[in-house]
Amino acid sequence: MDNCLFCKIANGEIPSKSIYEDDIVLVFLDINPNSNGHTLIIPKKHYKDIDDIDDDVYAHIFKIAKKIKSILIQKLNCDGMQLVQNNGSCQDVKHYHLHLIPHYEKQDILSVDEVYEKIMR
Ligand code: AMP
Ligand code: ZN
Repeated sequence: MDNCLFCKIANGEIPSKSIYEDDIVLVFLDINPNSNGHTLIIPKKHYKDIDDIDDDVYAHIFKIAKKIKSILIQKLNCDGMQLVQNNGSCQDVKHYHLHLIPHYEKQDILSVDEVYEKIMR
């Protein structure tokens, strides 16, 4: 979709710190993280929100979320993980995305680049 930030990230027009992709989804680090390793999973095709998204794509996103959660726990030693998806007035970017937000009992704040290196190493 024209002028959609996450469509532009999905097609590579805007760069992202991508940690996984397949034909259906792109997974990348949030530019303004709530915690180290805050990650977004987006469908490559534009869907606005939970009401708009295709059921098969939705199921695939949650399958990938399980994998990414395990990778983040293993690489970043987080103690817990929130999965969050905003709709309506809570949603800033109107292209469906699932947030994976690690929780730590204790954490030193790292830059997105430092987190990316830890995950990809
Ligand atoms: P939401 O409020 O659920 O729409 O969240 C949108 C999220 O997208 C926020 O956590 C932003 O920090 C994140 N975000 C916005 N622009 C970018 C970008 N260029 N790359 C990565 N994450 C982004
Ligand atoms: Zn879009």
